[in-house]
Amino acid sequence: MSNSYDTQKFLCDSTVGRLCSYMRMTGFDTAMHPSHVPSDVLKSALDEERTILTRNSITAGMKLARDVVLLTEDDPWDQLRRVISSRHLTIETERILSRCLEDNEVLQPVPKDDVKGKVWPFVWATQNDFTTCPKCGRIFWPATHVEAMLSKLKSLGIVV
Ligand SMILES: [Zn+2]
Repeated sequence: MSNSYDTQKFLCDSTVGRLCSYMRMTGFDTAMHPSHVPSDVLKSALDEERTILTRNSITAGMKLARDVVLLTEDDPWDQLRRVISSRHLTIETERILSRCLEDNEVLQPVPKDDVKGKVWPFVWATQNDFTTCPKCGRIFWPATHVEAMLSKLKSLGIVV
């Protein structure tokens, strides 16, 4: 079975903006389209071979939109649950918080010494594993947040 993280790419339009952040939080390659205009969204999805995630039934009903998940849920957590189940995705712990939530870039490990003076002294003193986004340069220390995210996903039944 191929790994869904490597084979599945997504595109959220502006009707599901928060879902985009949640998809990135779980580590899936998810682009954000700033518009909800069906033809614009479709073109972008076809160009990049991405599955469209939308609440817009006009977009979902377009003839060329073959790879689309039409969401009817209001709550972005419910939307996430729907995408995970309808696409048979498996969330892997090590992928949680592995992407920049702003840019969708895969975060890269950065040596602890390199972030000295760039993060709060308390953070530097208490954390050992840091990552950085190659695009925006933000520095992250995911370890403390992954557990919290995982238990949130478990409590919602998204991860079993
Ligand atoms: Zn970034």
